[in-house]
Formats: sequence, C-alpha cells, structure tokens
Amino acid sequence: MVARQLAGRGIRDPRVLAAMRWAPREWFLPPHLAGDAYNDGPLPIGSGQTISQPYVVALMTERLEPKRTDRILEIGTGSGYQTAILAYLSSSGRVFTVERLPDLLVEAEERFRRLGLSNIETRLGDGAAGWPEAAPFDRVIVAAAAPRIPEQLTAELAPGGRLVIPVGDLSSQELVILERPASGARLVQHQAGGVRFVPLISRFAFTEEA
Ligand code: SAH
Repeated sequence: MVARQLAGRGIRDPRVLAAMRWAPREWFLPPHLAGDAYNDGPLPIGSGQTISQPYVVALMTERLEPKRTDRILEIGTGSGYQTAILAYLSSSGRVFTVERLPDLLVEAEERFRRLGLSNIETRLGDGAAGWPEAAPFDRVIVAAAAPRIPEQLTAELAPGGRLVIPVGDLSSQELVILERPASGARLVQHQAGGVRFVPLISRFAFTEEA
C-alpha cells in the first residue's frame, strides 16, 4: 500500500512517506486483524480504541513537521503506531507519549522494544495535563479530540514550536494547528480540514466515556 496510496491522497513530504513505508503496521494490530494492516482505514485495537487510519497518521505527521532533533509530546499512544513514526523521524530527538489505558500502553511499549526504538518515553495518565518535567516541547500532537486546546499543552510549547490537535465535539472535528513563533510573539492558529477521532477523556476535556 502505503506510499503510493498516500501520495495519491496528497501526502508530499518524502520523509513522512519514508516513515510510513518503514513502519510495519501489522505489528500494531491484534493478530486476527493483521491481514487488514495495509488497507487505509482505522481498526479496533481493544479497550474500545482504534488505531488511526494510515492517511490520518500521515496527514497529522506532515502537518506537525517534525525535525530530526525535536522533542515531541504525544497524547494518546493507542497502539503506538503514530509514536513509532514520530520516533523514526526524530531519531536524534525524543518522543514523550502519554496514554490513559494501561493495557494499551503495555502493548505499545512491547512493540517499541521489538522495533528497537530507544528514543521513546512512556507515561500512564492524563496527557491533557502535559508532561511538565520534560517540557518544553518542539512539537505536541494529540490523537484524541478535545472541545478546546488544553491550556497546559500550549504552555509547554517551545518558541518555534507547533501543536496539532483535533478540536470539536464527537460528531464534528477540525484539525487545528497552533504555532508559537520563534520570537515568542502571539500564537498563530489555523485549521487543516475535518477529521474524526475518539474523545480525549480528561478533566480538561470530555470528562467521561461518551
Ligand atoms: N494514534 C493512535 C490512536 C490513538 S486513539 C494509533 O494510531 O494507534 C486515541 C488514544 O487516546 C486512545 O488510546 C485513548 O485511550 C487515548 N486517550 C484518550 N484520552 C486521553 C488522555 N486524556 N490522556 C492520554 N491518553 C488519552
């Protein structure tokens, strides 16, 4: 699949396409779904969650514009598929990923070990509360939808930093990109199209399983 299909849908960044080609998506799925790994759709990964559609992972990654040395904060590890792509792209940096469901995190950690990705740090908890001890971050990516951008995440964004998050309610969401100019001046926000994500469950977002 991937690279050709993704290029056909408008993903242009050669680094993103290379990362998508590299990641063995079947490793991030329950074994009985491995045969569907290279179809461009979301799939269930247990605990009521889904692994994102490859196109959406590629789109989020392209909009994030990660550099090789970046420190990246990711909220919503899920299967760890997006995390692995980010770790590949920021090979001289570090990815800090937060997941609230322990079963998913344990499985994802096992996959990172298997792939030999040593530049990932994981944490169990509410990612909307940020990761103050590791801040600031050059990039912040949120893989679950929030009614608004959690303040703590904006606060942990370094000058020259960029945050990508789906914002909206459960039926209608927009991918929002927030940039903090290197000068430290006011944040710049723009929208990058409609998306559909599971809710960010947090005291700073949606408070209970919807
Ligand atoms: N990109 C992932 C999919 C993530 S689905 C992949 O490709 O596999 C979104 C994930 O966010 C789910 O695993 C969900 O449990 C997690 N999540 C939801 N709210 C969260 C929160 N407040 N903090 C951390 N993780 C959260």
